[in-house]
Amino acid sequence: MPFVRPEILRPPSEHASYYLPLTSGCSNNSCTFCGYCFTTLGLRDLEEVKQEIDAMSLYVNHGIWVQGHPEIVYAILQDWDGRRVFLQDGDALVYPYPKLLEALQYLNKKFPDIERIASYATPQDILRRTVAELKTLKEQKLGILYMGVESGDDEVLRRVKKNASHDEMVEAGRKVKEAGILLSVTVILGLGGIKGSARHVSETARILTETDPDYAGALTLTLIPETPIYKELERGEFELITPFDSLQELKGMVEQSTFTNCFFSSMHASNYFSIRGSMPKDKDKVLKQLNAILSRKDPRLLRPEYMRGL
Ligand code: SF4
Repeated sequence: MPFVRPEILRPPSEHASYYLPLTSGCSNNSCTFCGYCFTTLGLRDLEEVKQEIDAMSLYVNHGIWVQGHPEIVYAILQDWDGRRVFLQDGDALVYPYPKLLEALQYLNKKFPDIERIASYATPQDILRRTVAELKTLKEQKLGILYMGVESGDDEVLRRVKKNASHDEMVEAGRKVKEAGILLSVTVILGLGGIKGSARHVSETARILTETDPDYAGALTLTLIPETPIYKELERGEFELITPFDSLQELKGMVEQSTFTNCFFSSMHASNYFSIRGSMPKDKDKVLKQLNAILSRKDPRLLRPEYMRGL
């Protein structure tokens, strides 16, 4: 089957990157809240990846357009500063290791000034690799991995079909850091519902402490129609927390977690209120902001529903 280029879904910090697809969809297409649960994994032929890198090089170095490549390639290249590349798609680290290594080597050969290559990775993708393999990828400038943790609570992880446990994710995070690759994780406010909220907060704070990532981002659960969790809500089997309760959860996670040096934020468009800070330095400042908004409970201080995004 021909490879279908995925839509661009990337972390906010990759806004200036070139988006190079190695896969489409996600190998763990089971998470009940995620739009990728409707996808099946597609692996792009390595020769096709190399042809795109060749086309990138011809355009960047000689201004030549090569027939047969989609317009999006050239649209991205027009604004690309040549420094960062983000490997698509939902977990590009699943791309078979020898081919992944070859793709990165080829990219570096054609663009020796690239500073950092990034990818989403599931905990399973990371656990499948040895630290030595991850170090080899790091030598080829794989500089940051984005891993969705979602929750530290094993009960929530089982319910949302994450297919990874608290301890496995801690182990995956440890491997990434041991390889010298930056670790960025995301957690989802509200994923425990009303009943599971307190445990979701304490266990997520615990996993944040144990993984001790370089970056941690909080998102707020946003229901996508037709996803399994959306149907659970319709059947009354799952209850959404309120916007202010999501900030209460955020406060609990900030309060109860301990970091060595982590940039913690809730700047994603799904959140009702944005905080950001370097932890532990800014912990008190962030908690003061959250206490202030929680004591006023003024809905005008929240991002309106129509402005929230995935
Ligand atoms: S592993 Fe990540 S991208 Fe894949 S289905 Fe789960 S949340 Fe979505």
